[in-house]
Order: sequence, then C-alpha cells, then structure tokens
Amino acid sequence: MEDENHVLSRATMPGFDHTNEVETLTQVPNSRVPVPTLERLATYLRLLHDLDQAHIETVSSSEVERQTGINAAQFRKDLSYFGEFGKPGVGYNVPELRQRITRILKIDRPKPVILIGAGNLGSALVGYPGLKEHQFELVAVFDNNYGKIGRPLWNLIIQDIARLKELNSSLKARIAILAVPASAAQDVCERLVDAGIRAILNFAPVLLRVPDGVYVRNVSFIQELAVLSYHLSEEEERERQQNGHHQGALAEPHPTALTTYAAAAEEPEVPAPTEAPIEN
Ligand code: ATP
Repeated sequence: MEDENHVLSRATMPGFDHTNEVETLTQVPNSRVPVPTLERLATYLRLLHDLDQAHIETVSSSEVERQTGINAAQFRKDLSYFGEFGKPGVGYNVPELRQRITRILKIDRPKPVILIGAGNLGSALVGYPGLKEHQFELVAVFDNNYGKIGRPLWNLIIQDIARLKELNSSLKARIAILAVPASAAQDVCERLVDAGIRAILNFAPVLLRVPDGVYVRNVSFIQELAVLSYHLSEEEERERQQNGHHQGALAEPHPTALTTYAAAAEEPEVPAPTEAPIEN
C-alpha cells in the first residue's frame, strides 16, 4: 500500500499530461486495498484513540461494531488485508492495533500540512487539535487578503499566497488543505501543484482538475446533508405507506426550533445574516 489516504475524484489540468475524463476512483493505484477500507481504518483509528485515552486495553469486533456502526465481519475483513490481528476469544489489544493501523496509514510520524484560506472555515481548522493528535502538523497558513496577511492565527502567522512556492521549498509539505471560495479554488490548486503539493483536501465546492500523481479528496457538507436528507425522506415515505396517511412529524419544521427567527423577534436590531459563511 503506497498511496494511502487520498483518492476520491481525480480530473486533469490543462497544460499537463492528461485525459479529459473525470474519474471517481474506488481503488488506490498500485494497491490491492480498496479506498473504503482505508476510510474505515481511519474510523477504527479514531475509536482506538478514544479507547486508549480511556485506558481500555482490549476491544472485540462486536464492540467495534457497536461503537462505529461498521459490521464486525467487515472490520475483520478490513484488517485481513494487512495480516493477522487479534486473538480469538480475547479480542484486539487496543494500543497494539492502534499502532499497527497508524503504521498502515503511514501517519506514525509527523506530516507537514499547509492550509490555504484563513476565512471562517480555515481558521476553525487551524485550531482543531485533532490534526496534531493524528500527526498532521499544520506548518503554514496562506491567504491573499492583505488585511489578513501578517496577522497571527493561533500559533501561526498568515502568509502571503504569493510566497507559497518559495516558503514550501523549505517547509516541504506535500499535503494541503484548501479552504478558499470555489471561484479561487482551481487557480490556487495549480499554484499548490507548482509548489510541490501532491495531496489536497478540498473544502471548496468545485471539482478540481489536477495532473496525474496528485490526489484530491473533496469534503462536501452539502453532499453529506443531502445523503442524510435522502435517508430521512425514504423513512418518511415508508412511515406514510405503513400508516396510510401523512404523519407530518419529520416534514414540518419543529415549532420551537432555535432559529434566528425567534431571536430576531426579540432582538430586532440584530440583522439576519445575508449569506452563509461557508459555501460548501
Ligand atoms: P472572510 O469573509 O473573513 O474572508 P470567509 O470564510 O467568508 O471569510 P471565503 O470567501 O470563503 O471567506 O474565503 C476563505 C478565505 O480564502 C478568505 O480568507 C479569503 O481571503 C481566502 N482567499 C480567497 N481567494 C484566495 C486566493 N486566490 N488565494 C488565497 N486565499 C484566498
């Protein structure tokens, strides 16, 4: 397993060796391990981290299922790609399994990561302690807004995007988090590739075109919400069919929902936000 942790969608960039097809990959190139398995390994790792923090020494596959929602047989199958794990009847040693999965995902040593876009989302990400806990070390933040450049953001100083290539030649980050608006994402992406970045976690709601050998994972809140919403509407439909009439419980907004409408009624001087901070 060489290229862990990346591929979701890959397209191509003008000026590079490319095809014009946008492909969705379920298999990391040169690897026999499916991407969904790698994604689940990250979930197991999160659970193992919590168990370890709570000084729990062993865990069974049924407990993994209970805590992650991932079927116990699936868990065992996922691990089987990487050799022998656990003892029958005893379960899995938590610190040992955690260490092995960490090594499998190659996050057993600190990896420098840079972030582009010190807006609302980017700023929140910089302060997220989970990055460091999982050995992703945020080494620089870049932006193009002169009102932000030079200002501190947590323990970092916001750098001018114009210096990206120059600074990354010494930082040597190969992973970037992209938290710029959709309109800027492709341009910034090309700069990132030019600066030596090979893996991009993309929060912008746009499909990036990248050359071969550069991996992109897209994080889309809206996509995730749409999937959840779909599940709910299917459930509603089933309920409707079972009951023979519309119950309305899921379809109607909750009458006491804590929205800005209620707040606005009490505090009319506070203007309602006109746009969402994150367009994702
Ligand atoms: P704010 O309104 O404070 O800028 P925001 O999260 O609403 O925050 P967005 O429009 O989503 O802002 O932009 C996110 C960040 O990306 C901002 O800090 C913006 O300055 C930065 N940004 C936009 N275009 C570029 C670019 N081409 N290069 C680098 N940073 C950029």
